[in-house]
Amino acid sequence: MRRGLAGLALMAVALAGLAGTPALAETKHRPPAKPTHTAKAAKPAATKAVKKASQHKAKPAHAVRKSLGKPLPDGTVRLDPVAWGAVASPSLGPAQVIGGYASGCLAGGMALAPEGAGYQVIRLSRVRNYGHPSLVAFLQDFGRRVERQGLGTALVGDMAQPRGGPLRYGHASHQSGLDADVWLRLDLPAMNRGARESLSEIKYVDYGAMTVTPSWSDRQAALIRTAATDPRVARIFVNPAIKRELCTTAGTDRDWLRKVRPWHGHDGHMHIRLSCPAGSPACEEQAALPDGDGCGEELASWLDRAVPAREVPPSKARPPSPAMPAACAAVLRGAGTAVAQAGPANGGFHP
Ligand SMILES: [Zn+2]
Repeated sequence: MRRGLAGLALMAVALAGLAGTPALAETKHRPPAKPTHTAKAAKPAATKAVKKASQHKAKPAHAVRKSLGKPLPDGTVRLDPVAWGAVASPSLGPAQVIGGYASGCLAGGMALAPEGAGYQVIRLSRVRNYGHPSLVAFLQDFGRRVERQGLGTALVGDMAQPRGGPLRYGHASHQSGLDADVWLRLDLPAMNRGARESLSEIKYVDYGAMTVTPSWSDRQAALIRTAATDPRVARIFVNPAIKRELCTTAGTDRDWLRKVRPWHGHDGHMHIRLSCPAGSPACEEQAALPDGDGCGEELASWLDRAVPAREVPPSKARPPSPAMPAACAAVLRGAGTAVAQAGPANGGFHP
């Protein structure tokens, strides 16, 4: 019963997301006045969301299922969300990002090689190490910069599924091949692929004080700065307590802080989001970043909340069927490639 309610609540939050506030979308300059994604705050927000969803989207679940795959008058389509996770290879043809970060897909995707200079991909069994070639190239360059600085080996978590689309668990975004999670812990050596399946994050936030924990070091800050100073990166999401630490220690070198955005959770990893790449006219960009380093009033509004910005526990429930650009139907159903791997990574560890 409890589980059912929690599933409903998450579904409602997701539906509310479709109505205009998708996860990690930052539609306004200010974060929402109340945290809507925290475990504790989920109840009232979810109740509201259920009401809203039932007013605006009165279709029962079976009706939604019936309309799956049929183009809607507004140029969108609803597709079986589970199908995206079942496709094992990218679609043929040129690489294209279609739609937004939280309701989109990826044509002609590419896999990031499981290991390379300065990085290793974790949890390969999830088959989420795909992205637009610009994301693959970014992560390879990022790894090289991490290695050059002697920071350790970056652990690359979820990117996107071979054809993007909604993920069965863990995220509302990561749909268009431009998002990647990189863990903040840098203490692990090169490991074989099996050993990389069952790692745990180090959580760097003390939620009582909303500060970083004693495990935090300059290396975590340098890792985030390395990503933020890359011109391909649009935004990086971290916990507000981490953003505060970066604001405090950055000194006069502050331009890169603008891209580092406070968000719920993100206490053990950063979420890196690239801008739309060239040659993807159907890619939907987010609103421009607000001016400044984001260390003032905006950060304070996150830190002053009664409920700390904790992570939402991932749901294993069936994901909602978001309204996606109609072009995604062809991506999902189109012929696939043999698994396209990025070229052999230079200098990496190969188990
Ligand atoms: Zn993420």
